[in-house]
Amino acid sequence: MQRRHALKTLALAAAGLGLGATPRRKKEAPVSVQTATGPISPEDLGVVLSHEHVMVDFIGADRVSRDRYDPDEVFRTALPHLKQIRDLGCRTLVECTPMFLGRDPALLRRLSEASGLHLLTNTGMYKAPYLPAYALEQSAEELAAAWTAEATKGIEGTGIRPGLIKIAVNPEAELVPIQKKIVRAAALTHLQTGLSIAAHTGPGLEVLDLLKAEGVAPGAFIWVHAQSNSDQSKCLEAARRGAWLSYDGFPATRGTEPPKIEVQLRTALDTGLGDRLLISHDAGWYHVGEPGGGTYRPYDAIFTHFLPTLKKDHPGIEKTLLVDNPRRALTPGVKGN
Ligand SMILES: [Zn+2]
Repeated sequence: MQRRHALKTLALAAAGLGLGATPRRKKEAPVSVQTATGPISPEDLGVVLSHEHVMVDFIGADRVSRDRYDPDEVFRTALPHLKQIRDLGCRTLVECTPMFLGRDPALLRRLSEASGLHLLTNTGMYKAPYLPAYALEQSAEELAAAWTAEATKGIEGTGIRPGLIKIAVNPEAELVPIQKKIVRAAALTHLQTGLSIAAHTGPGLEVLDLLKAEGVAPGAFIWVHAQSNSDQSKCLEAARRGAWLSYDGFPATRGTEPPKIEVQLRTALDTGLGDRLLISHDAGWYHVGEPGGGTYRPYDAIFTHFLPTLKKDHPGIEKTLLVDNPRRALTPGVKGN
């Protein structure tokens, strides 16, 4: 009870600082979404791809470094792909590469200015071996304080603030202690900033329970890679509780038969959960360490291959999945329970 009370006090204090949005303060300062080029109105997010990447570096937290890549080369590689989806009507791309895995907010700002796309970056941490040694030693409160500082003061001196919290959990049935701590740190950061929590795959229902224990409502949680879960009934259960399901692995082409992810999405739609779903490609991926960054995957297939057929069966689906849902999922607000 004491902790619950303390968190409620924390949330109210955060609201008073203008860091979050509770229903009580709706008439006060307008809520904005933080992008690489600054805050914008949630209405200006437009068409959103909610889970993509520009760059990733899988070398590990102990060796990751800005010296390992040429930002100009990454810029030249990514820009045509961002311009391509801008021409297809996309207005916002959420870049989900966490710190210690190739996050570079200044590069995103350059790409945003050159492409005309809003780009969102994130705070939070992934899982081993992409966790720094200090993440093992520090408490959830200490990690949350650092992530909250990024949300209020900007990341690494750039002044760029994260648009969401991105974490990962282990894929096994039960959360391991270090990932429980990461989830708790994300919950504390949410309560202080109002940023939503996107968690890479794993036992989503357990994450929801953990968030609930910390006083965070399901609406603050985005279940990343929902398509990877072999038991889709668990994902649908999470959505029924109010979580977001991110079907974010749409392939480059569709073919005549719908791929598994489209079948899963259609099942969720037919279950009446259309207002809890997000779609994306999890594409891009300039791989640091590979010549030329390897093969950069484009972000266009949803627009060119999937929406045309989905729209036939679900009129208006484009606005629901790419405009209304991501706007609701990304608009900051302390979602306590
Ligand atoms: Zn991803």
